[in-house]
Amino acid sequence: MKNLRGKKISILGAVRSGIGAAKLAKKIGAVPFVSDIADEEKLKDVLSVLIDENIEFETGGHSAKVYDCDLIVTSPGIPSDSEVLRNAKSKGLEVISEIEFASWFCNGKIIAITGTNGKTTTTTLCAYVFNSAGKKCYLAGNIGRAFSEIALEVGDDEFVALEVSSFQLDFIKDFKPEVSVILNITPDHLNRYNNDFNQYVESKMNIFKNQTVDDYLIYNLDDAVVSRVVSSSKTVLLPFSLEKKLENGVYLDGENIIYARNNETTEICAVGDLSLKGEHNLMNSMAVIAAAKVFDISAETIKNSLGNFEGVEHRLEFVRELNGVKYINDSKATNIDSVWYALRSFDSDIYLILGGQDKGNDYNKIKNLVESKVKKIYAIGSSAQKINEFFKNIVPVEITGTLEETVAKARTEAQPGSIVLLSPACASFDMFRNFEERGKIFKQAVNGLK
Ligand code: ADP
Repeated sequence: MKNLRGKKISILGAVRSGIGAAKLAKKIGAVPFVSDIADEEKLKDVLSVLIDENIEFETGGHSAKVYDCDLIVTSPGIPSDSEVLRNAKSKGLEVISEIEFASWFCNGKIIAITGTNGKTTTTTLCAYVFNSAGKKCYLAGNIGRAFSEIALEVGDDEFVALEVSSFQLDFIKDFKPEVSVILNITPDHLNRYNNDFNQYVESKMNIFKNQTVDDYLIYNLDDAVVSRVVSSSKTVLLPFSLEKKLENGVYLDGENIIYARNNETTEICAVGDLSLKGEHNLMNSMAVIAAAKVFDISAETIKNSLGNFEGVEHRLEFVRELNGVKYINDSKATNIDSVWYALRSFDSDIYLILGGQDKGNDYNKIKNLVESKVKKIYAIGSSAQKINEFFKNIVPVEITGTLEETVAKARTEAQPGSIVLLSPACASFDMFRNFEERGKIFKQAVNGLK
């Protein structure tokens, strides 16, 4: 545990992680100063926490006071090429991410989980399995509580399932999880990495940069990018694969999921025992199985907890069945890859609601799946025209208005046995505050159908 008593720490971003970092800084006897470019009105809820805690802050921009410090803790929302971070760098100031900062004060064992898709699901499932096994496990990072909020609470024998985004990994120094997990790496958020996929990949690799031979790296062997980059790690490697039988790791033997280690194999459960459906969730579950086995959780406990897990809101979430039509909320599908897995999770007769704020999507990746499984596309939001242009010669496309109107329309057209799936492949900000609001409005509209 580092001694930062009396040190001045500037915290960029009055967001959940920034507030957590400020409170942690204060608890360890440092002097935090929080700075955000947003105006006071917008930040008033979070600022009340800082006022209660007697923590100094500024809003509406970063003043020179930001640089009068011993350390800068930055939030995931601040791009590394932003003016404030460029200035900090030119002044030779040390800049770290919030998870790096929190990790300096956490005595527990960290299971850090990253990937382009599946982080929240896998991290939540991991915490669920560990807690079901009687091993106290905190859920932290982008989901649950900010890591800084809990770091000091975690006991030596306790665990943290930590969801880690690439933005948090950009500013890593000593962060060293006992177990790291890389689920997949596909192009996303490239606007934050100068449109350079390699930069994004390198950022993800920071998750294992400080791990040693005593630590574990769990990774997706079937993902070409991931399996290439892990070769530079020094850890015990525990891959998982849907395609290959493994001497070490988690694999499929027919319908059974097997964990293999040091010439010993353990049958964990059958694919059908998993409560989360779809190939992507099978991979997420395999990653969790590997993490659970590292800490000797029994196959029986793993099987029971994987069977009882109820899933995470807005991720292929079943909403309702009405007149034989199932309605599924996958509002968190904000890129093409997650829609690809969503479409793979259902047989056919899908009425797909696509659209929102485009992120430079290349729809070719889902073209074949749409052709074979989708009955009709409802295109919403600012990318509706682009979607119409791309798909109109493949399946019927209708540009619809609000999500409520779209759901009402789908209700009149979907036949018994079909699926109405909101899996938009786009960000939500053109129509909603965030993907959670989009999912909630979809669910309200569906639950309101008579
Ligand atoms: P993240 O936190 O990385 O955004 P989530 O668990 O919130 O991941 O899931 C985001 C979207 O990706 C959802 O639509 C979900 O169904 C889909 N998804 C979940 N796991 C995977 C995976 N392993 N590969 C691809 N897509 C996935």
